[in-house]
Amino acid sequence: MGTPGFVGEIWVNWSTGDAARRLWALPPEQRFEASLEQVRLAAGDNGIRYRKAAIHDWANDPYAMGAYGYEKIAGLTEPAGPALHFAGIQTSSVHTSHDSGVAAARAVLGALR
Ligand SMILES: Cc1cc2nc3c(=O)[nH]c(=O)nc-3n(C[C@H](O)[C@H](O)[C@H](O)COP(=O)(O)OP(=O)(O)OC[C@H]3O[C@@H](n4cnc5c(N)ncnc54)[C@H](O)[C@@H]3O)c2cc1C
Repeated sequence: MGTPGFVGEIWVNWSTGDAARRLWALPPEQRFEASLEQVRLAAGDNGIRYRKAAIHDWANDPYAMGAYGYEKIAGLTEPAGPALHFAGIQTSSVHTSHDSGVAAARAVLGALR
């Protein structure tokens, strides 16, 4: 979708919570089939097949440790000192993470002046 010269379709399927745990418990080929089944249902076309598929477990990715920060983490919402502020994933989205980083950087720079 949207790539000049590319005639296929790309489907991104998000699973969270128990649905993600059920999906991850399946053997890899069955995970793709289970996801594709949702596409078939949505499209009303049982003949849809995939050519390539990839899956990633963000919850257990050591560098991401999940995708969204729905819950505030105790101790990470308040500065630990005038020049030690926390920002990022705990605020949940790309934009709010970015903005919280800018705000924390400004607060630290202000404290160091
Ligand atoms: C698949 C996926 C899709 C998403 N889609 C959206 C979306 O559409 N819209 C939206 O608003 N949000 C989305 N999010 C959430 C969004 O990406 C995060 O909220 C945001 O990126 C958090 O920013 P951050 O700077 O806190 O953390 P990150 O962007 O995760 O940055 C943390 C950085 O620290 C690095 N790091 C971690 N540990 C170490 C270490 N020990 N040493 C050195 N470096 C380390 C990591 O490699 C990474 O580069 C998505 C997240 C995922 C995983």
